[in-house]
Amino acid sequence: MPGYDYRCRDCGKRSVIYQSYQEYGVDPVACPHCGSSQLQRMIGRVRIAKSEDSRLEDLSDPSAWGDLDEQDPRSMGKMMRKMSRELGEDMPPEFDEVVDRLEAGEDPEQIEQDMPDLGGVDGDMGF
Ligand SMILES: [Zn+2]
Repeated sequence: MPGYDYRCRDCGKRSVIYQSYQEYGVDPVACPHCGSSQLQRMIGRVRIAKSEDSRLEDLSDPSAWGDLDEQDPRSMGKMMRKMSRELGEDMPPEFDEVVDRLEAGEDPEQIEQDMPDLGGVDGDMGF
């Protein structure tokens, strides 16, 4: 039975949940740590080398972001760029544009209004 990596949106813990192909995407999954059903499938994990696991743990812990200042668009842009590099994911073009605009010091809410499709990116970044 294959295991699927999930991250809990509520408690932030990562867990592997074993489901058959028939169950996957059909049966509801719950966080083993807090029971929440707000689990996010971690896509692309297979491409991440084992040695990077600890760095990912760091990234999923907001306190480890250190100098991140959510009130400062430049700080957010820098962090998002770093995060996408660490994850090694191919980000959509919109992501780059958002990061560019953040780093230029633009108001995140204004950017969000300009780009209504951004909801997904927001969620993935955990904001
Ligand atoms: Zn949880």
